[in-house]
Amino acid sequence: MDDFDYYAVLEIDKNATAEEIKRAFRKAAIKYHPDKNRNNPEAEARFKQINEAYQVLSDENKRAIYDRYGKDGLNARGGADFGDMFGDIADVFDSFFGGGRKRSGDRRKETLDIAVEMELSFMEAVFGCKKTLKYRYHKPCAACGGAGGKRKTCDYCKGRGQIYQRQGFMTFSQTCPKCGGAGGVLESACNECKGAGAIQIDDVLELVVPEGVDSGQRLRAGGRGNMGKNGSRGDLYVVLSVLEDPVFARRDSNVYVEAPVFFTLTVLGGTIEVATLRGAKNIEIERGTRDKTQIALRGEGIKSATGGRIGDMIVQVKIVYPKKMTLEQETLLRKLHESFGQESVAHKGFFDEIAERVKGWFN
Ligand SMILES: [Zn+2]
Ligand SMILES: [Zn+2]
Repeated sequence: MDDFDYYAVLEIDKNATAEEIKRAFRKAAIKYHPDKNRNNPEAEARFKQINEAYQVLSDENKRAIYDRYGKDGLNARGGADFGDMFGDIADVFDSFFGGGRKRSGDRRKETLDIAVEMELSFMEAVFGCKKTLKYRYHKPCAACGGAGGKRKTCDYCKGRGQIYQRQGFMTFSQTCPKCGGAGGVLESACNECKGAGAIQIDDVLELVVPEGVDSGQRLRAGGRGNMGKNGSRGDLYVVLSVLEDPVFARRDSNVYVEAPVFFTLTVLGGTIEVATLRGAKNIEIERGTRDKTQIALRGEGIKSATGGRIGDMIVQVKIVYPKKMTLEQETLLRKLHESFGQESVAHKGFFDEIAERVKGWFN
C-alpha cells in the first residue's frame, strides 16, 4: 500500500467527527466512483484510497490506533482489506436513493452463509480461548416448502425483483420495494411461518479460538449456516473484533508497552520491572537513556494465528520528572548540579567559544 494520509484523502481535519467523516466519504466516493470515471486509473486509485481511509477512520478503534501509531500501527487486515469495499458503497447509495436496508438482507438470503461478529478481549485474542456463541440460522418452513404461502407474480417489477433507475451517468438497480426482490407477492400467508418462508432456529456453537487472532479475521464453522430448500447448510463465519487493551498496543505480532522511568534512573542506569504479556520482567535501563527509546524483548510478543515467527515486546521508555520537590530535594539537586562544575554549564562554554571565533573574523 503506498503512503497517503487518511485525513488528507478525505479532505477533513484530524478532529473531524464521525458524522463529518461519513459526509466527506460520501462526497468523495461519488466524485471518484468508477461508474462516473470510466477508463480513468487515477480516479480508480483515488477511489480505493478513499475506501481504505473510510474503513479505518469510521472505526473508532482503528482510528485511535492510526492517530497514535500511523499506518504501521494497523495490522495488514485493518488497513487494506477491500472485501467490504463494494458493500460499503452499496450501503451508501442505498441510503441516498431510498433503497433502505432491505438490500443487505436480501443478499444474505441469496447465500446460505451467515456472518456473526464476536468480541474478544485483548488477552483472549493473544492467547486463544474457548467461547460459547449463541446465534440464529434459518431453515425453510416445512408447512409451505419455503414459499411463505400462496404467491402471485409481483406487478410492480413484473416478477424481476429489481427495478432500475438512472441518475445522470449511473444506472442503479434497486430491490423492488413491493416484493422485496422475490418477484412474487403473497396472496395468502402460511400459518406456520407467517409468510416468511423460513423458521428461525436458536443454536449454540462451542468455539475454540486459536492463539494470536486479530480484528477482522474470520473463523469458519462449516455446515452451521442457514439451511437451503434441499436441506444442505451453508457456513457460519465468526468475524472477530478485538478490544483495545489499556496497557498493551498491538501491531501484527508485536506488542508495545510504555514504561515510565524516573529521570534520575535514566542518568544513573539501573533495572526496572515492566509488564509483559506473560508476567513481569526486569529490563536494564542504560545510562543516558533518552525519552521514547525502544527496547525490544525478542519473542515476548504474539504468536500469529496465521503462522510465522512469534513477535516481540517493544518497551518504550517514558521519562518521568518529579511533579513537585521538597526543599531538601531541591537543595540536593542544586548541589548535584554544581558538583559537575564546568560540565553543568556546557552551553556557556559553547557560547564563549563561538564568541571567540566571531571576534577572530574581524581581526
Ligand atoms: Zn410456511
Ligand atoms: Zn416486485
